[in-house]
Amino acid sequence: MIPVADALAHLFALTPRLGSETLPLVQAAGRVLAEDVAAKRTQPPFAASAMDGYAVHRDEVAIAASFTVVGEAAAGQRFDGTIGAGEAIRIFTGAPLPDGDFFVVIQEDVDRSADTFTIARDPGANDNIRPAGGDFTKGTVLSAPRILTPADIAILAAMNIAEVPVAKRPDVALISTGNELVMPGETPGPDQIIASNTFGLKAMLDQHGAHCRILPIARDDVDSLKMAFELAQGADLVITIGGASVGDHDLVAPVLADLGTERSFYKIAMRPGKPLMAGQMAADHGGAMMVGLPGNPVSAMVCGAIFLQPVVRAMQGLPAESQPRKTATLTADLRSNGPREHYMRGHVANGNITVFDRQDSSLLSVLAAANALVVCPPNSDAKSAGSTVEYIEF
Ligand code: AMP
Ligand code: MG
Repeated sequence: MIPVADALAHLFALTPRLGSETLPLVQAAGRVLAEDVAAKRTQPPFAASAMDGYAVHRDEVAIAASFTVVGEAAAGQRFDGTIGAGEAIRIFTGAPLPDGDFFVVIQEDVDRSADTFTIARDPGANDNIRPAGGDFTKGTVLSAPRILTPADIAILAAMNIAEVPVAKRPDVALISTGNELVMPGETPGPDQIIASNTFGLKAMLDQHGAHCRILPIARDDVDSLKMAFELAQGADLVITIGGASVGDHDLVAPVLADLGTERSFYKIAMRPGKPLMAGQMAADHGGAMMVGLPGNPVSAMVCGAIFLQPVVRAMQGLPAESQPRKTATLTADLRSNGPREHYMRGHVANGNITVFDRQDSSLLSVLAAANALVVCPPNSDAKSAGSTVEYIEF
């Protein structure tokens, strides 16, 4: 058994870094920016009014000063005449300022009558002008790698970047194994259950940028498993679920060995999820990275969160890092831990965390009620209510 951190390091060593592709801006949200992108424009490209009001010569601003309105500047249409002493123009938000040293008096601070107005209230020190380049200038860089947020998409649009270089989505093949499994929506036989793991893992990994393919369920026989590995070809990452222990029907490891897979490790000092294996498929079977997850539903999902999410992110060029940990205060005593790192389902609210009593790795209902995995290090002592623990958001 190897520690969780060592297993993750082995996984990162196996992780391929995928190339990039260019997408229209409207399709780039949530994707990982693959290269630094430089603004093609300065924003604003000209000094612009921040308010609706009147542009007057700065040195003429004074309470009770009167002006004649000689023109108008609106967003999209500048005023290009001349503005003499005692003259001003009507100006609206987003309109370019005239050339020269101007001040925008907001309309609430003037009294207007026909073509003249008087500054009736103290306009204050703010000239209500957005300077040219006040937001960003041509060449300003949006740095990679980063997951493109809605705000990133907005600034890329403003920078006039219509096409965005993003990391390719990892192609992930998910293979459930087991004679007892049928797909959701099918009618199970009396001794059968519904495959859940591939669906949960697809939902999880697609959220982190993967494109998961759920393959047909492999039966517990050599031919069926080999067929599944054939169908997985072309994937960047092949994930099997179940069949990874040492029972008579656990054929994943022997079939992989038969296909020439180079195994990196097997068995991790972790709960749930001890029988995890990883390696690389042989070149004549696609050469993909391969991870074998335990079949118990909670084990599969927890291993997905601890190992596969970081791998899928690293494939897209994001930093190879374990899941970030947070801290919270225990609402009840927590028992001591054995030699395996234990990820315990719990619920955190307002900085207080409740660890659930039932932790059996088959209980999806307990996982569905959880929003946190409390990390109990190997051989850790019991902790009393009120002490601090580390957890991973789930
Ligand atoms: P195994 O590792 O194949 O011995 O499976 C361990 C347990 O997980 C058994 O109770 C299986 O029925 C269950 N199991 C395996 N794969 C899946 C799956 N894809 N969905 C739901 N349960 C599964
Ligand atoms: Mg099985």
